[in-house]
Amino acid sequence: MADVIKRFVAGAVCPRCGEMDKLVIYRQDERDYRECVSCDFAEEMHFGQPAAELETRANRDLGRRAIKFVDAADKNK
Ligand SMILES: [Zn+2]
Repeated sequence: MADVIKRFVAGAVCPRCGEMDKLVIYRQDERDYRECVSCDFAEEMHFGQPAAELETRANRDLGRRAIKFVDAADKNK
């Protein structure tokens, strides 16, 4: 099994239970997912760009840039 590193998204609010700072993002099988550690919310994230770029941005600054990235994706649904 490959290591799955889950990173908290600071300031993100879970769409299901509404708890803040409970969302984690992680990558598995070439796909990006986010899930809540407070409830059982989990979904695959769909970005219109390569996952490698998400990985880079998230690693560089897990804080506010990651939040913006998530918000932008939600608006495109
Ligand atoms: Zn939740």
